[in-house]
Amino acid sequence: MASREDILLELGLTPSWRLRRDARAQATTSATPSTALLARATSAPAADAIPAVVPPPDARRSRIAALDWSELVADINACTTCGLCRTRNRAVPGVGDPHADWMFVGEAPGAEEDAQGEPFVGQAGKLLDAMLAAIGLRRGEGVYIANVLKCRPPGNRVPEPLEVEACKPYLDRQVELVAPKLIVALGRSAATTLLGRDASIASLRGRIHRYRNVPLLVTYHPAYLLRNLPDKAKAWEDLLLARRTVCAAAAAG
Ligand code: URA
Repeated sequence: MASREDILLELGLTPSWRLRRDARAQATTSATPSTALLARATSAPAADAIPAVVPPPDARRSRIAALDWSELVADINACTTCGLCRTRNRAVPGVGDPHADWMFVGEAPGAEEDAQGEPFVGQAGKLLDAMLAAIGLRRGEGVYIANVLKCRPPGNRVPEPLEVEACKPYLDRQVELVAPKLIVALGRSAATTLLGRDASIASLRGRIHRYRNVPLLVTYHPAYLLRNLPDKAKAWEDLLLARRTVCAAAAAG
C-alpha cells in the first residue's frame, strides 16, 4: 500500500514546508493579491522577474489612464505585469491613425506580429487589409488597429483571463485616446473582453453594442474566416453595417 508520504507526493502536496516561488511572489505583495496573481498569469515567473514593489491594480489603472500616446507606447513596450513579457520578442502596442474614426480590435499578436511589433501583419492581417479595402479603408488612414493582448501568448494559445485583466487598461486608454466613431471587435476574445460577457459571435453580430459609450460591432476574426470561407458573406454584411454606422455618426457631427 502506498504510504501517506507517497500519496501526498502524487497529489503535489509535499513537502509541505517548501517555500514555493508563487508563495514568495504573493508574500512580497500581500497587500495586493490580485497584482500578485497577474504576475504569474501564464506560469510561475522566476522570482527575480517579479518587481519587488508592484503597484496595486487600481493605482496602475489610474496611472495608465493618464498617459499620452508616446508614454502609453513606452509603457506597453516596457510592461512586465504578466508572464508574457518573458516570452515575447516585441510588444505590439497598436498601429494607425491616433484619432481614427474606425478602431479594429483583435485578440493577440501572432508570431509575425511578435517579430515585427505591428498588429495583423501575417495571413490574417492580409485578409483584414482586404476587408478594409472592401469598404474603402486603408490601414493607417482613419483606422487604428490594436489587440486585447499586447504580447504574444506562446504557441498562439488563447489569452488567459489574468493576462487580459493585466492588459485591459492599455486597450481602455487606446479607446479613450483614439475616441473612434466605431469599434469593430474581431472575434470572440475581443468581443468577450469589450462586452464583459462570453457569447458566440453568431449571437453578437448584426447589431450595434456599446463600449464606454462608443458604438461597437462584433464580427468574425480574419483568421477564422480563412478557415471558414462561407462565413465571409456574414462578415461582409457586418462591414456594411459598420460603414453605415460610421457614416451616420459622421453625418450627426
Ligand atoms: N490575430 C490577432 O488577433 N491579432 C494580430 O495582431 C494577429 C493575428
